[in-house]
Amino acid sequence: MLKRATALLVLLSSPAAAFELSSPVACEMGTECFVQQYADHDPGAGVRDYACGGQSYNGHDGTDIRLRSTADVDRGVGVVAAAAGTVVSTRDGMPDQLVQSPEDRLRIANRECGNGVLIDHGNDWQTQYCHLRRGSVAVKRGDPVETGQKLGEIGYSGDAAFPHVHLTVRKDGKAIDPFQPDPTAACGEPKQSLWSSTARKALAYRQGEILAFAFSGAPVQLEQLEAGKPHPTVPTLASPALVAYVWAINLQKDDQITVRVLGPDGNPLGQNGTTLDRNKAQYMLFAGAKRPPAGWPRGPYKAIVEVRRDGKARIGRTETLTLE
Ligand SMILES: [Zn+2]
Repeated sequence: MLKRATALLVLLSSPAAAFELSSPVACEMGTECFVQQYADHDPGAGVRDYACGGQSYNGHDGTDIRLRSTADVDRGVGVVAAAAGTVVSTRDGMPDQLVQSPEDRLRIANRECGNGVLIDHGNDWQTQYCHLRRGSVAVKRGDPVETGQKLGEIGYSGDAAFPHVHLTVRKDGKAIDPFQPDPTAACGEPKQSLWSSTARKALAYRQGEILAFAFSGAPVQLEQLEAGKPHPTVPTLASPALVAYVWAINLQKDDQITVRVLGPDGNPLGQNGTTLDRNKAQYMLFAGAKRPPAGWPRGPYKAIVEVRRDGKARIGRTETLTLE
C-alpha cells in the first residue's frame, strides 16, 4: 500500500517540479537584499510581473536581487549556486561601474552581463548570474558546484544601474521565470514555482519595500543614498536642519505616501506627502524643518512614514531620535 502510494506521488509530480532552486544570494531578504525587478510576462510593449504587478521592465528576462547601495558591495555579499551543476563559463575583470549614460552603455556593449557565471544543471536547465563584483568569481569552467556554493559576490559590473545580481533561469535555451515557469499562465493563476519552500518564503512578493527610513541633519539626495557614501549625518543640537527621509522601492501608481516629523512636545515639525502619478521603481521623500532661532528643543523626536493604497495603510514605520 505504502509503495503504491509513493509511486502515484512520483507520477503526479510535474516535470517542472523535478528541478528546484534555492535562493541565489547569501543574504537576508527584506533587510540586506531586496527583489528590485522580476521577469516581464507581457508579450507586448507593456510590463507585468508574475503577480500582476509592475515590478519589471519591458523584456526583462530574469530576477534582480539588489543591495541598498554600492557601499554595501564592499561587504562582499555572496552569490551562490541555486542548484547543483557544472560551471559552463565565467567572466571576471570588468569594473563595478553604474551604467547611467549612453557612453556607459557603449562601454559594456555585448558584455551586458558583466562578470558572471553560467551553470548547467542537466536536462537542459541552466542558470546564469550577472553583474558580479570584480575579482569575486570563485569558480572556473568545468567545476562541479553544489547548491548554495559561493560563485562570487553581488556587484555592479556590466549593464547595472544599481548593485544587484541578475539571475536568468533557462530551459532548452529559453529564459523562464522561476516564479511562474508557464509563459501561457494568466497572472494570478496558481503558480508552479521552481523555488524550494525556503526560497519561496524568503522571496515572497512584496508590494513595495522601504530600503531606509531615518533622520538626517541635512537634506538627502537619492544619488547619495545609492552610493552609500557619505552617510547622511545624524542630527545634533547644532544641526541647521532636522529631516526624516524614506527611500522605498516598487511603490505603485496612486500610492499615497506621507512622512511626518513630530517634535518633543508631540506637535508636527514638518510634513510632506504625495500621491504617485505612476509606478516608482525607486522613490525618496523627506520632511523636516530648519533649526528655530532658539535652537532645537531637547527630547525625543519622532518620524513616521506611511504608504496608503486603496484606502488602507500598507507600509508604515516609525523612528525616534533623542536630542540632548
Ligand atoms: Zn536584470
